[in-house]
Amino acid sequence: MLKVAKFGGSSVAGAEQFRKVRAIVEADDSRRIVVISAAGKRSGDDHKLTDLLYLIHAHLTYGVSCDEILQTVEQRLTDIRDELGIPVDISSDLAAFRRRLSKDTSVDEIVSRGEYFTAKLMASYLGYAFVDAADCVFFALDGTLDRETTDAAIAEALERCGRIVIPGFYGRLPTGRLRVMSRGGSDITGAIAAAAVNADVYENWTDVSGILMADPRIVRDPAPISKITFAELRELAYMGASVLHEESVQPVKDKGIPLNIRNTNRPQDPGTMIVESADEPESGERFITGIAGRKNFTIMTVYKHGMVSSQSLRQALEIFDRYHVAVEHITLGLDSFALVSSTAALGDAVYDVIAEIRKLCRPDDVELREDIAMVSAVGRKMSSRPGVSGRLFQALGNEGVNIRTIAQGADELAITVGVENDQYEKAIRVLYESFCAE
Ligand code: ASP
Repeated sequence: MLKVAKFGGSSVAGAEQFRKVRAIVEADDSRRIVVISAAGKRSGDDHKLTDLLYLIHAHLTYGVSCDEILQTVEQRLTDIRDELGIPVDISSDLAAFRRRLSKDTSVDEIVSRGEYFTAKLMASYLGYAFVDAADCVFFALDGTLDRETTDAAIAEALERCGRIVIPGFYGRLPTGRLRVMSRGGSDITGAIAAAAVNADVYENWTDVSGILMADPRIVRDPAPISKITFAELRELAYMGASVLHEESVQPVKDKGIPLNIRNTNRPQDPGTMIVESADEPESGERFITGIAGRKNFTIMTVYKHGMVSSQSLRQALEIFDRYHVAVEHITLGLDSFALVSSTAALGDAVYDVIAEIRKLCRPDDVELREDIAMVSAVGRKMSSRPGVSGRLFQALGNEGVNIRTIAQGADELAITVGVENDQYEKAIRVLYESFCAE
């Protein structure tokens, strides 16, 4: 059994969190690759190391002294070292970093040091070998990951050292320069490492006990999802749930490696298991895995009597495409069709789009309805189960939520309804209370 455990910024924010990480790693002998983010916030008014490092870069660029921020960064790291008595000499490393800094130092070089130093401390604290991401995560010149070289380097490092800590978030280009990934990129490093060694599980340790069934700002204490498929996760993410970034699940998804989201502060919780496919009995009352949604959509309805042929729809889609406006949902009537897109994406192009539709499609009328929220109930168990949509609509109707539009994909993985923006929170609460709450 081999597990890759990635710990996010809040899990390594200070000495207390380091202790929890060590207890977790020591509790399971198979956690042999550990991927570490930069120390994050210890409290609401604290700062992430990465943010401070970006600030340092900005100060250097504009020729403003960054001494104070540098001092804060160094203090954060040496405090962890001293409180835990970690026998690693990061002081000379930090001093060398300080000397190297100039206005020409690349932003990637600077911000990658958050992960570098935090992981160095953690490696020593765990008694694992530190393997610099510059020596095992490689990018091609176009910035894409060089999968083959990376896989080989990580596998080789594990083989050679037995137990390793890798800093997340960055890697090396063929030119030798460092390159950072998008924000939150340590998740990607963890997935890359898990895929490289064909791990049995990729554990992503964070500060919540898994993916929640609904937004906790809307529903009080929503239950965590115990099992979800990658496809369902994609639907939820697309509809606005703050879950893992697509890029950070792809490497493990490709290899069929399950991804387990866990809480560093509550290691006893099983978290959420994300799997390729979930075989389970057909029965079971819950058919919704999660609920997500977004506000501020516009529905454009085009009426044309006797429209029967799809020509007008095709023309309208081409017009949207020309203005780079993504159409997120389409509904078709006999003499009309409606296109749903985000109001922000339509922007001022909306007038030109309508003008062109009038010119090309010669509709009887075009109607615009703004301030629409789209709410999706996602669940693999909805598929081939009769009566599900009826129950959803009835629950919403009973509570006075007016449904403006309905969409369901052919895969029956999600049912999406359009409601007024000001009924958005209510719609989510009604769906949660009717179908998700215990
Ligand atoms: N430290 C980086 C960030 O704050 C990457 C990460 O935490 O995954 O975005």
